[in-house]
Amino acid sequence: MDESSSLILQHDADSAWMRMALEEAAAAAVDGEVPIGAVIVLNSTVIARGRNRTIRDCDPTAHAEIVAIRKAAEVVGNYRLTGATMYATVEPCAMCAGSLIWARISRLVYGAPDTRAGAVHSVFEICTSDTLNHRLELCAGVLEDESRELMQAFFRERRPRSRSDAEG
Ligand code: ZN
Repeated sequence: MDESSSLILQHDADSAWMRMALEEAAAAAVDGEVPIGAVIVLNSTVIARGRNRTIRDCDPTAHAEIVAIRKAAEVVGNYRLTGATMYATVEPCAMCAGSLIWARISRLVYGAPDTRAGAVHSVFEICTSDTLNHRLELCAGVLEDESRELMQAFFRERRPRSRSDAEG
């Protein structure tokens, strides 16, 4: 196979796995959670899916990526997830980017950037830091519009309600 057709195949696979992460994100929104989803793939197989559940679990660390990493490590029976790819609908925060490093995940694919808290490109660059002993291969912007639209719709719907709450 030549290089360009293998790149196209990789792109198709990335979009397909990202669709699954978007399903998780949409399910989080139904639960009233900020709609972020994550999927971890190893050897072309999904080993874990996660969605944001911070409110439900009353756990500030229950981001989609952390939920998925914990599950994946359990499934594999190893706290190192070498060779795995994470698909996250939104650019991971500092906590999640740090966890990707600790988990030794090989590749990160994400959808929309997070200009306020993103720790891969936007605010910090944790996944490619020279001072850490692990770096990830990165691919940004896969199904970015779909990811962003989910987030925007979620906050659009919530805003009027919180305003009326504030007005009592
Ligand atoms: Zn996070």
